[in-house]
Amino acid sequence: MHSQRLPRFSRWILVILVISLLLYAAVRWLALASQTNSFQWIGTRVDRVETSEKLVALTFDDGPRGKVTQDILATLNRYQVKATFFLVGRQIKQFPLLTQQLWQSGHQLANHSFQHRAMDDEDWQRYGWELSDTDALIRQSGYQGEIHFRAPMGKKRLLLPLQLAWRGQAHILWDVNPHDYQGTAPDIMVQTVLNKVKPGSIVLLHDRDNTLAALPGMIEGLKAKGYRLVTVDQLMAAAQH
Ligand SMILES: [Zn+2]
Repeated sequence: MHSQRLPRFSRWILVILVISLLLYAAVRWLALASQTNSFQWIGTRVDRVETSEKLVALTFDDGPRGKVTQDILATLNRYQVKATFFLVGRQIKQFPLLTQQLWQSGHQLANHSFQHRAMDDEDWQRYGWELSDTDALIRQSGYQGEIHFRAPMGKKRLLLPLQLAWRGQAHILWDVNPHDYQGTAPDIMVQTVLNKVKPGSIVLLHDRDNTLAALPGMIEGLKAKGYRLVTVDQLMAAAQH
C-alpha cells in the first residue's frame, strides 16, 4: 500500500490553521453572545435572585438629578422602603449632598459609570477611569457599603466583564423593565411591574417624573401582593444556593 502523505511541515501548517479557525469562531461566538443581556463570559452577573421569599429590589438609574431624585427619595422614605441607586459620576459631582442623603436614608448606592456612555467599544482604559472615578465619588460621599456596577444601557461585550471581574465588582442587571425611559405612562408602568414581578426580581427604573408618579401605586401594589421592598444587597443575601 502506498499512501500519499503531506510533508511534515505542511501537516503542521494545516493543524495550526484549523486551531486558529476554531479559536476565531469561539471568540466570535463569545463576542456575539456577550452582547445579549442573558450572558456574560466572566465575573458575577445578577439579573434576579433565586429565592422563595417575596422580596423585590427597585433600582433607580442615572441620578442623582436634583428635584426628581429628591422627590423619589421622599416617596421611598414615606413608605419606609429601601431601594438601590445606580449613580452616574458626573451627576454625583453636581449633587454631592443629595448623594449623601440617599445612603443616609438607608438606600444602597452603586456605580453606573462616569459619563453614561455605552461600554461596548472595548476601550479598557476608559472603563478603568470611569469605574474608578465614580467609585471614588461614591466613597467621598461617605458611603461604606460594597459598590456594585450596572453598565449604561446594560451594554457590554468582552472587556467590561473582564474589568469588573478584575476589580471584584458584580454586574447588576434586571428582570423587570417597565420602560420608563420611553415615557411610559405611570399606570402602565405599575401594571407591567405588578404583572412581571417574581420573588427575587430586580426592577429597572430611572430618576424621571413618570417614574415618580408611578411610584406610590407601584409600592402599594407590591405591598398588597405581599412583597417586601429591599436593596440589591439584601436581595442577594436572601439567595438560595
Ligand atoms: Zn442608565
